Amino acid sequence: MNHFIRADRRPVKRPVGSEKFRELEATELYCAKCKRAVRVRKHLLLVLPEGDKYEYRCVFCNEAVGSKIDRNMNQHSLIV
Ligand SMILES: [Zn+2]
Repeated sequence: MNHFIRADRRPVKRPVGSEKFRELEATELYCAKCKRAVRVRKHLLLVLPEGDKYEYRCVFCNEAVGSKIDRNMNQHSLIV
């Protein structure tokens, strides 16, 4: 019994490397034009100080279906 409770209360700390899996999950999004979940392509839109901004486009109709900012975790060393 105690065992289950402890498992539920695991801290929301992700191990390094799990980011890649999240990227993969994000490759299917709902497209308003196709009216269904579609595979998307990731396009680099902008390079911002806080990270790179990406746009996701439907592989079928090229409609933009989402965007996100990939934060530059590796560049913490720039903050003095
Ligand atoms: Zn589409």
